[in-house]
Amino acid sequence: MSAKKANLSGELKKYFGFSTFKGQQEKIIENLMNGKDVFVLMPTGGGKSLCYQLPALISEGTAIVVSPLIALMKNQVDAVNGLSSDDGVAHVLNSSLNKTQTKQVFDDIKKGKTKLLYVAPESLIKEEYLDFLKDVKISFCAIDEAHCISEWGHDFRPEYRNLKSIIDKIADVPVIALTATATPKVQDDIQKTLGMTNALVFKESFNRPNLYYEVQPKVNVDKEIVRFISRHKGKSGIVYCLSRRKVEEFAQLLQVNGINALPYHAGLDQKIRVANQDKFLMEEVDVIVATIAFGMGIDKPDVRFVIHYDFPKSLESYYQETGRAGRDGGEGHCVAYYDPKDIEKLEKFLAQKPVSEREIGLQLLNEVVGYAETSMSRRQYILYYFGENFDPVNGDGAKMCDNSSNPPKLKDATNDLKKVLELIRDTGEKFKSKDLISVIAGKESAVTKSYKLDQSPYFGFGKEEKDNHWKTVLRQATVQNFLLKDIETYGVLKISEKGRLVLDGKLEHSFMIAEDREFDLSQTKAE
Ligand code: ADP
Repeated sequence: MSAKKANLSGELKKYFGFSTFKGQQEKIIENLMNGKDVFVLMPTGGGKSLCYQLPALISEGTAIVVSPLIALMKNQVDAVNGLSSDDGVAHVLNSSLNKTQTKQVFDDIKKGKTKLLYVAPESLIKEEYLDFLKDVKISFCAIDEAHCISEWGHDFRPEYRNLKSIIDKIADVPVIALTATATPKVQDDIQKTLGMTNALVFKESFNRPNLYYEVQPKVNVDKEIVRFISRHKGKSGIVYCLSRRKVEEFAQLLQVNGINALPYHAGLDQKIRVANQDKFLMEEVDVIVATIAFGMGIDKPDVRFVIHYDFPKSLESYYQETGRAGRDGGEGHCVAYYDPKDIEKLEKFLAQKPVSEREIGLQLLNEVVGYAETSMSRRQYILYYFGENFDPVNGDGAKMCDNSSNPPKLKDATNDLKKVLELIRDTGEKFKSKDLISVIAGKESAVTKSYKLDQSPYFGFGKEEKDNHWKTVLRQATVQNFLLKDIETYGVLKISEKGRLVLDGKLEHSFMIAEDREFDLSQTKAE
């Protein structure tokens, strides 16, 4: 393959009718066509599909596109076939095809007609397909929804794990991996598992400046949400609840309160589910009350609010779910109702899971709690989670959250930062936040005992302050890049370059923090 730069714009116009590339599409395509492995991290709607569709259409041979969902594949195949006058430019290959259909696909590939072949990973391992694909010209391999490889992603699929060895069996071709999940942990997992640590990485910002983020204590939540929606009468919105039962109950409660709402969850009859979704898309109903089953592939541009009745299980899913608001660039209000007791319930639920799943689940919940309780810019917090620095004062959308529009008082915690950095340095940079807080507060735990931290001079140095204060210091020191969260162990705190400057007495500004919020809802009397 070789990229003819001058021609790419012409080909874009010819096949897609667009005059210019979006974001980094052109660079991505050029590099892929020059034989490089590329890794694309772009939020939903960023234009990922074109990054492999266009090069596939203009390259010799067939591109293999690995995708997890048959329904999504079918849509894509129809869309690609619509771009060309020939049918058979794109095909799906899976076990739902009968013998004649499979033969047709194979024939089209042999003739060089098929430019994109969509397969699910579990189909790709079929001997019959493997044997065939080994003998035909493959242009490159695209791995869509690449986060499915990682247990840290929001949609782990074990079948994705072995993709690398399967692809190697088929052909030695460049690989393009694409995802809208960009946490550093998931990114690292994807690159390692696909053997593409040398890939060129193209990452676009995940900032959604038109979304307003807000967290409210979960008190009188039914009334609060009814009031909120009544203030937004006639506008489209989604309310997410954790359980199917809650979805049904709450949809009814909204209806009783004169709000045009319908439920959606995987337990509803297929016909009702589709009908409810269509009514929402066609604006016959304003509000959908749903479990997280709702939303995949829903592209309604004017969703004005996304409310979380129950708190999400990870910041990643929160980002994806709130991402359905304000697609048209207009208002998008995202409110989540938080009660620490709900988190405890989720923790109990995780306790029944296998160890690795439990550990991951707890870490993810930890981030969610951090988000709920922080007094920092919520946008900064979310973007940090995606490995992105955000300026909470001048960044795009800086004022668009409860904490930023009503800023809490800041206090100087430079001395505390120094002490914490010294502790981390002198204990060998091998502990997680929870264990460091035990040391600071002078509380014994299994870890403090086994590492004899209770005999360290640091043990209990901060016991005069509340634990919450130290949690805040550690979290904000991480988000402000004085500390790094180790990717391998996820959670072990290490000192960054910037943190070393502090230890060397070279800090240029004071370290200012806003104390995390405390949510003790048992003290709050319900109306
Ligand atoms: P993603 O897969 O990243 O969610 P899509 O590939 O579905 O995004 O693209 C999102 C939208 O952007 C689609 O409607 C697509 O047609 C449009 N799009 C993609 N590339 C361009 C471009 N260069 N110019 C204009 N629109 C584009």
